Amino acid sequence: MTIATDPASQAAAHSAGPTRAVRLLGEDDWDGWRDAARRLLAAGIDPDAIIWTVGGKADDLFAIENELPPQPRVPPRVPRSFLPLAQSAILHSDPERFALLNRLLVKVSRYPDLMSDRADPLLRRIDLLAKAVRRDIHKMHAFVRFRELDNGDGSQRFVAWFEPDHHIVRATSGFFVRRFAQMQWSILTPELCIHWDGEALTESPGAERPDAPADDAFEQAWKTYYGAIFNPARLKIKAMLKEMPRKYWKNLPEADLIAPLVASAQARESSMVEQVIPSGNRARTLEALAEEAQGCRRCPLWKGTSGCVFGEGPGDAAMMIVGEQPGDEEDRGGRPFIGPAGQVLDRALSEAGIDRREVYLTNAVKHFKYVMRGKRRLHQKPDAAEIDMCRWWLDQEASLIRPRSTVMLGATAVRGITGKTGAVGKMRETALPLQHGSGTVSWHPSYVLRLPDREAADRAYDQLVQDLRLAAERTG
Ligand code: SF4
Repeated sequence: MTIATDPASQAAAHSAGPTRAVRLLGEDDWDGWRDAARRLLAAGIDPDAIIWTVGGKADDLFAIENELPPQPRVPPRVPRSFLPLAQSAILHSDPERFALLNRLLVKVSRYPDLMSDRADPLLRRIDLLAKAVRRDIHKMHAFVRFRELDNGDGSQRFVAWFEPDHHIVRATSGFFVRRFAQMQWSILTPELCIHWDGEALTESPGAERPDAPADDAFEQAWKTYYGAIFNPARLKIKAMLKEMPRKYWKNLPEADLIAPLVASAQARESSMVEQVIPSGNRARTLEALAEEAQGCRRCPLWKGTSGCVFGEGPGDAAMMIVGEQPGDEEDRGGRPFIGPAGQVLDRALSEAGIDRREVYLTNAVKHFKYVMRGKRRLHQKPDAAEIDMCRWWLDQEASLIRPRSTVMLGATAVRGITGKTGAVGKMRETALPLQHGSGTVSWHPSYVLRLPDREAADRAYDQLVQDLRLAAERTG
């Protein structure tokens, strides 16, 4: 970031002194803006005497570059709420935002109470900029759709195209790194592209729409899924358009289905209030999902396994039970809960008066994670990134089945369903409100098996039965 003085403007003798240009390194150069704004404030330079520019745009206008005023020894004191507001607003595409923020900084450094004056026109305008940026970030989190590309060496790269309204790409990168830490991915946008190789984030200049793939093998799965979860009885077109504006549709595989689904829903207006997704459709969609999951390479856990162990059970089950991950026997047999822990669960279900055939059983992570010890495959706990990665499948199972009651066996299942961590012992007995019905937390049957103390194991088993009974009551 540099500062320049315009000789022509000097001659014009602006009442506040010469007009100066501050040149920032990029449209989202928060550090540069903050550094310059602090110096200008400390030097008492009138915000109206500053022209803020980005990159090389000032070169033609200003020939003389001066030193910035020195950094103040004590940074200016501003209300705490100024920083998050300014950090959001600075990402807006409005070219005036740097100047507006500078004006606000000068004002609040003199009148800190102004930050709570919602009637102040400058504050309101900046507030609107910040809101628009936050909305744009939310939409990017929600509407980026990756398409899978084969790298040609057996590995995959996922590529998405997105057109944000504001300069938010860097600001959203942390979200995608956390969420898709194990994948290699690229998000291409007209202004800037970001790339994650599993270890480091890199950037490249903006791209064009044709640089990103338009479809992939997952395309049909998205459509099947969307078609199955679409409920005409809940159709609110205005709300849908507000949440999913048309401009994002071109990136969404499911968007092709919106018009025909809406049309058919309207045609069935008289019956749609009671309309629900037929259970046959759900079962077929679950089958299609299970098939798709066999090809999943989102994280490395598929390597060295017999396949993906997807959930099983009725598509309209009132209760869903979520475990941690398949074990050695489940991996070989291709079904959840058929090993020693499954036998404990079967016994507990029967004592709780629950028919296993009426429950949808699945795991938070669908591939067996293990380490070799001699010829044995020893279970290894999936880490947070693997659980988060696999949540894509678990979310779809839950959205299709819409269980009234979900049992989370162990902390991995809790993370898979809620995205949160917590101690099982503390969460037991409290019903957790979930998107679909309520959640009950209990011990994983393998924890019961691993407890060396017989008494403690019996107690944990009794609690498991008790929790299953409670969960069954919660289906009512
Ligand atoms: S564990 Fe889940 S996310 Fe990882 S490869 Fe298997 S199905 Fe995909």
